[in-house]
Amino acid sequence: MGTSYAYFKKQIIPLEDAKIGVMTHALHYGTGVFEGIRGNWNNEKKQMYIFRLKEHYTRLLTGAKVLKMNLPYTVDELCKITIDLIKKCGFKEDIYIRPLAYKSSETFGVRLHNLDCDLLIVAIPWGRYIDKDTCHCCVSTWHRPDDNVMPPQLKSTGIYLNNAFTKTEAVENGFDEGIMLTPDGHVSEGSGENLFIVRKGKLITPPICDSILDGITRNSVMELAEKELGLEVLERSIDRVELYIAEECFLTGTAAHLTPVSEVDHRKVGNGEIGPVTAKLKDLYFEAIKGNIAKYSSWCTPVYNL
Ligand code: PMP
Repeated sequence: MGTSYAYFKKQIIPLEDAKIGVMTHALHYGTGVFEGIRGNWNNEKKQMYIFRLKEHYTRLLTGAKVLKMNLPYTVDELCKITIDLIKKCGFKEDIYIRPLAYKSSETFGVRLHNLDCDLLIVAIPWGRYIDKDTCHCCVSTWHRPDDNVMPPQLKSTGIYLNNAFTKTEAVENGFDEGIMLTPDGHVSEGSGENLFIVRKGKLITPPICDSILDGITRNSVMELAEKELGLEVLERSIDRVELYIAEECFLTGTAAHLTPVSEVDHRKVGNGEIGPVTAKLKDLYFEAIKGNIAKYSSWCTPVYNL
């Protein structure tokens, strides 16, 4: 139900009409920053809730600044454009929204300066990203770059070649997802997800300085764990072997939601079943993103005027 439209060159147009030229700078040099945002359909309330819309656009504008883009939009303007776009699409199912800010000049030459930039937004229906209830992961041979090579905190298009190497290696070797290490060998994150483990009743996740994206799902899950489950949450470096001896492990991301990890490198995590902390957090998270927990309603932007 619904039709895909794009926000392109300051207008909402049919998706198939949104086209860029073959010399567009970002296509050749990875000079873009993007976001992945979820709209979650609540069938009981007949409402679409966009999850943490402002936080996604704040991250996009931060990345745009580092890439020397002067985007003529505020966070509030971007939120409004997105709501208008989704209303026009009229989707009544879970969707994925992809804003992309990119160097739009049709010219060659490696640089960030003296280039025009533009913003587009597309929205498509999208269900599960990792299509399993629990996933099998491997530790990737590909490492996450450090901040002075390519800042992992930014959702820049160019850095995703590193993620693509990781994902394809994992899938071609029979795993669902790859977990990258930092340049000095600590656990960083999955190709499209942050990572958590449970050890001795504590929830542990790598710190921002361990080459991770500052995930919005990660942040939400940390808050739910502390406030709703009274858990102690530690941001500290994780050794590779801790993946093998953790009681529980799961991945978080806008696309992947909260996906339990049942095996790492052919070793069962815990007893290979979904652990109690993971199960409770998963339930809380899915209720929160569907706008069913009043306390977290500020995380959810309703789209349709009922
Ligand atoms: N790390 C990487 C590399 C990602 O691509 C994503 C997905 N955006 C995440 C972590 C999770 O971030 P978020 O929860 O903000 O989607």
